[in-house]
Amino acid sequence: MDSPVSNDKTFHDPRGKFPKPPFPSQTQPFPGLARDMEPKPDHGETSYQGSGRLKGRKALITGGDSGMGRAAAIAYAREGADVAISYLPDEEPDAREVIELIKKEGRIGIALPGDLRDEDYCRRIVAEAVRQLGGLDILVNNAGRQQQRQSLADISSEDFDATMKTNIYAMFWLTKAALPHLREGSAIIQTTSVQAYDPSANLVDYAMTKAAMMNFTKSMAKQLGPKGIRVNGVAPGPIWTPLQVSGGQTQEKLVKFGGNTPLGRPGQPAELASIYVQLAAADASYATGQIYGAAGGSGQP
Ligand code: NAD
Ligand code: MG
Repeated sequence: MDSPVSNDKTFHDPRGKFPKPPFPSQTQPFPGLARDMEPKPDHGETSYQGSGRLKGRKALITGGDSGMGRAAAIAYAREGADVAISYLPDEEPDAREVIELIKKEGRIGIALPGDLRDEDYCRRIVAEAVRQLGGLDILVNNAGRQQQRQSLADISSEDFDATMKTNIYAMFWLTKAALPHLREGSAIIQTTSVQAYDPSANLVDYAMTKAAMMNFTKSMAKQLGPKGIRVNGVAPGPIWTPLQVSGGQTQEKLVKFGGNTPLGRPGQPAELASIYVQLAAADASYATGQIYGAAGGSGQP
């Protein structure tokens, strides 16, 4: 039985909280803009309330212009952190909005446009974040490339290379560059996926990278635990973001997006913000090497 959404902000039916399929068919050129999606994704712009959980912390979030990265950036700023975001130059309109929201909280917001497939750029943004924020203690490896292909034969070497570089190499380069700056108590967070555990037939290259990110999270947690640095991952299910409308899904799947989950709808980035906060916050001090799911009742972990 459907019940109306409660007006109580702390108690409501998760099924009716956000839009359900069918969604309007829509495509954007990669990487896409949240601004132009219909319906517009919710990144917590009007809803996320902070309580000082990340006071004084300094975060670098890749892909912080839209989707999960943007939800994390808004939440981190409202929890008291200064935040640098990376994004592709084409995403400037989305990124501007995020920087304004960060600054509105009285926090430092740094915009670092560029292409993560370039090792020099990865090194540079870590150095810039450290310089402009006055240090770094949270790294969120969140940017990602997902382009669906029906057959292995349709995945070009250029495609394969772009997916590996964006999703795996950048995480490796950024983490390596960040480590000398991360003090005890710092946190590294990867955005992996349910695809790491139960890959779709048409996301072969993408799913491989998400499995690699999950595995990197676990080995690095073992390597960095003795140094007092925690490493965790988030494994979202279907979330309403530009990645999905810019080649990530077929139109047939997009129209029904999230409809086959037990909650009957896709997640919104805002619904994962508190997970990114929790994994970065000092009170989660015993959580490391873990992958936290948010997939509407289906999917693993
Ligand atoms: P999104 O499109 O909002 O974010 C992805 C971001 O990656 C883009 O905003 C872009 O800034 C960045 N990016 C991509 N290629 C880049 C490049 N070459 N250089 C620099 N930046 C680049 O979509 P999202 O869904 O929020 O994606 C964030 C993460 O969530 C990704 O790692 C994705 O794999 C993961 N994820 C998404 C879903 C979902 O259903 N949306 C599910 C599971 C995991
Ligand atoms: Mg974007």
